[in-house]
Amino acid sequence: LKDQYAAENPRSRELMAEAESWMPGGNTRSVLHFDPFPLVIEKGEGAKLYDVNGHVMLDCVGEFSAGLYGHSEPAILKAVSEAMSSGIVLGGPNLYEARLAELVCKRFASMDLVRFCNSGTEANVLAAVTAREVTGRSAIVVFDGAYHGGVMTFAGGQNPMNVPFDWIVLPYNDPAAAREVFIKNGRRIAAVFVEPVLGAAGNIAGTYEFLQTLREETEKSGSLLIFDEVKTSRLGGGGVQGILGITPDMTTLGKYLGGGFTLGAFGGRADIMTRFNPHEPGSLKHAGTFNNNVCSMAAGIAGLSSVFTKERAEAFLKQSESFRLRLGEALTNVHPDFHVTGLGSLISIHFASVEPKSGADTTKETRQFRDLLSLKGLLGGVAFTGRGDIFLSLPMTDSDMEIILKLIVSTATEYLDF
Ligand code: PMP
Repeated sequence: LKDQYAAENPRSRELMAEAESWMPGGNTRSVLHFDPFPLVIEKGEGAKLYDVNGHVMLDCVGEFSAGLYGHSEPAILKAVSEAMSSGIVLGGPNLYEARLAELVCKRFASMDLVRFCNSGTEANVLAAVTAREVTGRSAIVVFDGAYHGGVMTFAGGQNPMNVPFDWIVLPYNDPAAAREVFIKNGRRIAAVFVEPVLGAAGNIAGTYEFLQTLREETEKSGSLLIFDEVKTSRLGGGGVQGILGITPDMTTLGKYLGGGFTLGAFGGRADIMTRFNPHEPGSLKHAGTFNNNVCSMAAGIAGLSSVFTKERAEAFLKQSESFRLRLGEALTNVHPDFHVTGLGSLISIHFASVEPKSGADTTKETRQFRDLLSLKGLLGGVAFTGRGDIFLSLPMTDSDMEIILKLIVSTATEYLDF
């Protein structure tokens, strides 16, 4: 199959070889590395991608969830071009920032006040620093398999490029381990960072008991519970915190928040975020040239106010969750070891005797299946991420979803024959 892929994509191979002259590996996003080479994308439209070799694909990469709106949402294009016509960078508070802040704070229960930055990574680093300042403590609890950004990665051991905080890494979905760490280290812990659905490790949903335990233990010990909802905030009208009714002290956001443009946000309880108020003596400083760039702000406002309204978010959760469950049934019929994990539009497929509950549960068979799925998809007109995550987007139609489902099920059948 790899030979077929290489033969069908000569232009991508050429362009990637040229790119390697200037960038190690040919691009600046490690996650886009693909063996033998990734496809070079020429354009996107709605839920479709067009590559330089002339192929059209349904886009399940969905820019790793930032592509919620697809590639050409008219309301976003209009808002951005209107904003651009009044200047690209303004270097002052502008007409957009507070409106976006209001939309965000009204949507997520934990966010009384918010600050913007440029990416999910930045949002998490800033939230971590905030927690250390506010609590006067140093340790930060994270979970094995978590991805909180390029410098906060905890899959398969610690990333040597991680910011050198005092990390404590625990197994995901293990309330007993969490209770124990608080008994032993409670007074040292500034914050617990958790993705309510463990994303990069294969979209594994946190159980209510696990997340509620984290809520109780952090509250008892005076440390902060931080939900990284960079991906999961798209689930329903108020993110996973809204679905479960568990309110963290702080929340971080990113991905689709800027309508597809670069943006991150961190926010939380007023007494925490007030520490950034420059009217107060000893306030925390957080600057950033592009924190309030008009392009991301205008796109974000258009997205949240006229496209991905709370109502639409609820409907999209229902529609995508029904797709996920249908896919699960279809794959179980192929073989009972297939599991379709995640929630709503954040989906992964696993092959294992029991459904995975943590990052360590990803099996060799799961990886093999996902490799096959990526290749079969690229050859068959559906782009999946190299590591097998599936992201649905708003412009996908029911018939698009049917095509995706059929391709996955036929690949599953083929996988068993290998
Ligand atoms: N947190 C989570 C849960 C993420 O999935 C990501 C990105 N994949 C990040 C943080 C980092 O966001 P960014 O890529 O915008 O820095």
